[in-house]
Amino acid sequence: MNIQERIINAGLRPTKARLAVLNTIADAESALSHPEILERLSGQKEFDRVTIYRVLDWLTEHDLVHKISGENRAWKFQLSQPRFLPATNKNSQPQALQNHHHAHLHCKLCGQITCIHELEPRFPQSALDKFQVDSIDINIKGICLQCASLGKHLNN
Ligand SMILES: [Zn+2]
Ligand SMILES: [Zn+2]
Repeated sequence: MNIQERIINAGLRPTKARLAVLNTIADAESALSHPEILERLSGQKEFDRVTIYRVLDWLTEHDLVHKISGENRAWKFQLSQPRFLPATNKNSQPQALQNHHHAHLHCKLCGQITCIHELEPRFPQSALDKFQVDSIDINIKGICLQCASLGKHLNN
């Protein structure tokens, strides 16, 4: 499924800006922050920072991308996995849980963030009944392969 199909399949309207931002996130090797997306789209003058901000909000709201808290509390954005859950199940869990059914790897040296979709934590309903969940972050911190191969950690 390409980027345009993902938007259309979700029953949404692909605009030039939405496609540009979503393609930029999809092409990136790890999660991108708003300034990083802005920089990658800087050749296209029609996409200013406010437009990109609004598009990121829209993409997050429709779960085409998800936000991950990066360094210095700056949000980073990563493509969401397309979900094939029946519509009836969709509202059985709070939004925050639907958006975070996986964990993230954070490299503490270069700040790279990647998703591990294979890790899908199950939250017991009994725990969720006692607490109103706003967001869930499962972060695994360490050193990415690239930094490790450069031996960066030896100098730290
Ligand atoms: Zn790294
Ligand atoms: Zn993720």
